[in-house]
Amino acid sequence: MKICIDKISGRTNLIYGLYNSYKERKSNLILEKDGETIDLDFVTEEYLERAVQEKNVALLHTLSQPRQNKLIELAIWRDKKWANGKTIKVKFLGGTQFLRDKVIEKALVWTRFANINFDFIENGDAEIRISFQQGIGSWSYIGVDCLNITNQEEPTMNFGWFDQTTPDLEFSRTVLHEFGHALGCIHEHQSPAASIPWDKPAVYRYYAATQGWTQDDVDNNLFAVYDNLTISNSGFDRNSIMLYPIDPLMTGGRFSVGMNNLLSTNDIAYIKQWYPGR
Ligand SMILES: [Zn+2]
Repeated sequence: MKICIDKISGRTNLIYGLYNSYKERKSNLILEKDGETIDLDFVTEEYLERAVQEKNVALLHTLSQPRQNKLIELAIWRDKKWANGKTIKVKFLGGTQFLRDKVIEKALVWTRFANINFDFIENGDAEIRISFQQGIGSWSYIGVDCLNITNQEEPTMNFGWFDQTTPDLEFSRTVLHEFGHALGCIHEHQSPAASIPWDKPAVYRYYAATQGWTQDDVDNNLFAVYDNLTISNSGFDRNSIMLYPIDPLMTGGRFSVGMNNLLSTNDIAYIKQWYPGR
């Protein structure tokens, strides 16, 4: 089984991202939203410092909860989301025609529901750049984080295990998942609604054995929960393309999920909501 190590910010970066976001607002003290002014003064500097020192995502989240949970969530993701209706240029850095065609075919599935266009170009600058380097996993930067990679020779997305023999469903599963990240989606199992009954030592062992992951990799890709960053407020979607397969070994047999190869009904509903117009 192969899964992705996403080029999302690690735990520390995630905290700093949140921290900076709070600090920005702290400095303004008020934030305007939908014509309403909201006072953010309740988040004190000491709490922020403590959360950062302890690398404590939960603490930061707790701080944001009493009054404006939803606001913070939307604000963070407004930063990651592309402008609605945008045409995103996409370029391949390597890969055979067969692989390129497969990626294009599967990526375009998102654009049936999201009001976003992918323009696959041969020359010139592109916001999303795709490589096919074997052995470094499949991953993507999240949403407009792609723009932070300014070197046009550097990929923003990689497919690390595709070849001529890759089954169609595997292309579907992996391309949809990585393009989901590129559109701004996070992992469904890191949604606050997930509450998966992990057997953590078993999960560390499992990923060390099957993917060569360190405990940090596991923490970042499975256990870090993005309370205020998630797009989903309607509960955990076990059919989401953004969910990793979950072997029953990792939950003491209490929970498992197979391979999700297609967009779920919820994935479609949310992306339509996020990028409305189709
Ligand atoms: Zn992923």
